[in-house]
Amino acid sequence: MKISKKIEQAGKEDKVWWSFEYFPPRTAQGLQNLLDRIERMRALGPEFIDITWNAGGRTSELTSELVKTCQSLIGIETCMHLTCTNMPKEKVDIALKEAKEHGCRNILALRGDPPMGKDKWEAIEGGFVHGIDLVRHIRATYGDHFDVAVAGFPQIMLLSPEERDQEMKWFKEKIDVGVDFIFTQMFYDVQIFIDWVRAVRAAGITIPIVPGIMPIQTWNGFQRATSLAKTFIPQSFIDALEPHKNNDEKVREIGTKLVADLCRQILAAPIGIRGLHFYTMNLERGSRMLLEELNLVPRVETLKPLPWRQSLTPSRRSETIRPIFWANRTKSYLSRTENWDEYPNGRFGDSRSPAYGELDGYGVWIKQTKEDALKLWGHPKSFSDVCSLFQRFCTKDLSALPWSDLEPSLETSVIAEQLAKMNSLGFLTINSQPAVDGVRSDDKIHGWGPANGYVYQKAYLEFFVSPELLDVLVPHIEDDSNITYYVINKRGDLRTNNTSEGPNAVTWGVFPGKEIVQPTIVEAISFMAWKDEAYELGQQWANLYEADSPPHKLICDTFQNSLLVNVVHNNYKKADAIFAPFVKAGEEYAAKHRTNGHVA
Ligand SMILES: Cc1cc2nc3c(=O)[nH]c(=O)nc-3n(C[C@H](O)[C@H](O)[C@H](O)COP(=O)(O)OP(=O)(O)OC[C@H]3O[C@@H](n4cnc5c(N)ncnc54)[C@H](O)[C@@H]3O)c2cc1C
Repeated sequence: MKISKKIEQAGKEDKVWWSFEYFPPRTAQGLQNLLDRIERMRALGPEFIDITWNAGGRTSELTSELVKTCQSLIGIETCMHLTCTNMPKEKVDIALKEAKEHGCRNILALRGDPPMGKDKWEAIEGGFVHGIDLVRHIRATYGDHFDVAVAGFPQIMLLSPEERDQEMKWFKEKIDVGVDFIFTQMFYDVQIFIDWVRAVRAAGITIPIVPGIMPIQTWNGFQRATSLAKTFIPQSFIDALEPHKNNDEKVREIGTKLVADLCRQILAAPIGIRGLHFYTMNLERGSRMLLEELNLVPRVETLKPLPWRQSLTPSRRSETIRPIFWANRTKSYLSRTENWDEYPNGRFGDSRSPAYGELDGYGVWIKQTKEDALKLWGHPKSFSDVCSLFQRFCTKDLSALPWSDLEPSLETSVIAEQLAKMNSLGFLTINSQPAVDGVRSDDKIHGWGPANGYVYQKAYLEFFVSPELLDVLVPHIEDDSNITYYVINKRGDLRTNNTSEGPNAVTWGVFPGKEIVQPTIVEAISFMAWKDEAYELGQQWANLYEADSPPHKLICDTFQNSLLVNVVHNNYKKADAIFAPFVKAGEEYAAKHRTNGHVA
């Protein structure tokens, strides 16, 4: 969505919103850490994020890459900065073309800083000279496809009247060639900002202004950033911070209060501003502390329009249904379905053939390096050791399993105890969801979707199990007519008690003025596609160990000979009913094999 639309919507609702700026890091490890951080900071509820463009274009490919990942995988609206520095027109065109392909709808058009090692900005031959030239070019080439933003500089208020008038004249000319909104440079003096906003309005500029807010993290960092940008610092800031300049913790604490106060004054001033743009410097703590100090909490609606992370690339924007199997492996789902002509919208079934891509695509591997994986999972010696790893994952004592890169979600914690018990009985769970009987859509644990709605879920379990234990389980499952299940082996032989061929909706929501939304389903064809990946991950775990070593053999045997099963309890009003057959079967089986604790 275009940022101007978001600003307009927030204005109508009189809602305060915020956004985060990041810059491309220099190393591959830094890039991975940044992506993890952007993903985590998404939970702080930014309306959108933006990614800077390195002066001289040295890391420009990285900016494009980050924009792509943020749009498609993290599913967060992303604004791309683009500069004229060292950028021939052809390079600008490539950047814009890629941005469009990745679903990016917002460009911050800048002249750019001088490249590293140069004090003065110089245009290159055939390149653009000023921000206005880039804005003109984007409009001429792409019409209204992008929202175009530009940088605003409140500190021009400190120039002589003649210089200020000249800057304002150039600024107005730039806005008039087709700019949608303005991001400002950072500032700490609220009066300079307010005076500048008034001057901008007096010059006839009416588009939205988004103030740039730089959290204060350390004394040295604060000094460096303000001297680089020649930011005017009010004496009250220096008086409060300088006495503690050797105590980072104290500087951060006082700085947070000062900057929060600045934000409150901006929002309280009668200048129509409801949004704050945070310069995160790729750090989490400062922005988080500021939001907490300002009591700004995200709305579930902003964080989770659907129960799974929606992709914002052009072809996937209207996708509204996914099978539950890839709930913990979004990357691989996106990769295996990226060539679909059409994504399911409203129904998942006959309208398209679910031709899932091959397993050799991006993302179908265990995420950890061999070294990290061995640290996590050690060298299991018995089936009981394997059960114990799964059990520990459910109780958050282990951070990942091959089938899940991340700790169990908040909602899985609701059934953590029951899942741990299942694993101790020999059912190795790899995916689950608890039953939910109509909680409000803004519920912190289960909520998703528009405000004032209600959401529902059927209990779901997916696990590997030995053929012997499955034989004991099936009669207990079949005793409960509310349970439907699918069992599959590595070869692909499928068994089910489900008489209906269509998908089973396991998550749905009821919202004001809308049809019922049913975004997550269980169905046979996708389960068959998923099983290859589920077995492959077990094999990759085994391959971490020397061929023919005992752990290799144990993991190989455990997963390759097991069956993969999914179970849905269709009576969502009985939250615990899904677990009953497992407890009965597990205990019956354990008694038969006369073991203590774990299954032999
Ligand atoms: C929010 C924000 C984000 C930024 N992100 C980045 C980034 O990602 N990468 C990066 O390298 N830099 C970034 N910058 C820095 C920015 O590129 C520099 O501050 C740059 O010097 C000014 O850019 P501009 O787009 O305002 O340039 P311009 O609009 O070209 O203005 C620059 C100066 O040129 C003069 N001028 C303007 N128009 C005319 C005209 N028509 N004729 C003659 N003179 C004129 C004025 O003196 C003006 O101050 C950012 C700055 C801000 C505030």
